[in-house]
Amino acid sequence: MWYLALVSIPHKNILCYNKSSSMWFRKQKQRRRKTRSSVTTHYCTHKEAARRLVHDRLAYFNTHYGFTWNRVAIRNPRRSWGSCTSLRNLNFSYKILFLPPHLRDYIIVHELCHLAELNHGEAFWQLVALCAPAYVEHVAELRAIDRRGGGKVAYLTAAEAQYLAPARAPALPRSDRVQSARPSL
Ligand SMILES: [Zn+2]
Repeated sequence: MWYLALVSIPHKNILCYNKSSSMWFRKQKQRRRKTRSSVTTHYCTHKEAARRLVHDRLAYFNTHYGFTWNRVAIRNPRRSWGSCTSLRNLNFSYKILFLPPHLRDYIIVHELCHLAELNHGEAFWQLVALCAPAYVEHVAELRAIDRRGGGKVAYLTAAEAQYLAPARAPALPRSDRVQSARPSL
């Protein structure tokens, strides 16, 4: 039945369909390849600067926490700004380089605190609040950036790029300033 249906389509039409669809696929493939190579170039251009920033700020905040980690990787994930694994590996998106300094610091503190609390429970947020007391606002700001596609696109706006300048280290906050809301990144 299937065989009969297939052979009943005129041969010329099959050829036309294949020709146009293969052209469409080729164009899509070219477009994807072009986008992928721009994304890779952007990532390769900035990842070492991101690595330096992450290591500097991890060292800075860890003078307070004193945690140990296995390794730090700078990646180009599609959706996340950072992550921490049960093997004590910290991963960060190179795009944190383009965030305002207080948001970069929040992400670094957030992942650092997962070394002690690999969850988003009460104890975790108390640890985060020690070095990022305004974390509730930071989470809201990051969500707004995500909604605009900031964490997912390769190229950031000129306004976002201005944050490439190295951040001045803020003073470590007092440990009793703990906020009550419990957002997650
Ligand atoms: Zn988290």
